[in-house]
Amino acid sequence: DILIRMENVEKWYGGFHALKNINLKVRRGEKIVLCGPSGSGKSTLIRCINHLETIKSGRITVDGTALTDSKQAVDMVRREVGMCFQQFNLFPHKTVLENCMLAPMRVRKLSREAAEATARKFLDRVRIGNQADKYPAQLSGGQQQRVAIARALCMEPKAMLFDEPTSALDPEMVKEVLDTMIGLAQDGMTMICVTHEMGFARQVADRVIFMAEGEIIEEAEPNAFFSNP
Ligand code: ADP
Ligand code: ADP
Repeated sequence: DILIRMENVEKWYGGFHALKNINLKVRRGEKIVLCGPSGSGKSTLIRCINHLETIKSGRITVDGTALTDSKQAVDMVRREVGMCFQQFNLFPHKTVLENCMLAPMRVRKLSREAAEATARKFLDRVRIGNQADKYPAQLSGGQQQRVAIARALCMEPKAMLFDEPTSALDPEMVKEVLDTMIGLAQDGMTMICVTHEMGFARQVADRVIFMAEGEIIEEAEPNAFFSNP
């Protein structure tokens, strides 16, 4: 049961070949950690899945639906695949609760009441429900990142993509965000995570994928991967 499929995907930035013949199948419920040196294309790969970047050729499907450049396809992928970035991208002039209600109201067309119930449910799930009426700047970085995760979950996505979600955090806040991600993994979420947190990879990943210069160069179960000299 393949949820996300990339076939022969090529991505160029102007004259720069950023992704070279990427083939990747992600099973429903599978957790993948993407690693590799800076500039190897990890972020580009996951941004292509969410249509934050357009590909030059190849094919991406999400739950059987081909990701084209049509508005319908882009709306589909933004609903079904949540994304969490290094920078939290919360709206500073909206409360935590309002940040989480926006997309459910606009995209899922939920009523204000239903959107609030959804927002509160997922804020509780990331154990930050008691901060619902605060503004982002009143929270720590770790708390803001958990809000960003809750906001993505409010779309009830089928998969979550993480792009170095702990890289901008002070060290003491990394664990709370990783614990939230581990909780999601345990709930069965399909996840692709770009992260340098190898403890997380060892604990959570079904597969670790190593990229270099725009290519997938190695793929392994975490134990095999980490024991490889
Ligand atoms: P084009 O396809 O028109 O040549 P690019 O895809 O190269 O444009 O660049 C798109 C945007 O990304 C530009 O605004 C550019 O400034 C920015 N950009 C260029 N190089 C990089 C880079 N290495 N990392 C991130 N952004 C970049
Ligand atoms: P990683 O996530 O592995 O660090 P990226 O996917 O961010 O790698 O970037 C891959 C390569 O593409 C890098 O060489 C980067 O400079 C380049 N790049 C990323 N975004 C752009 C852009 N918008 N325009 C031009 N080049 C880019």
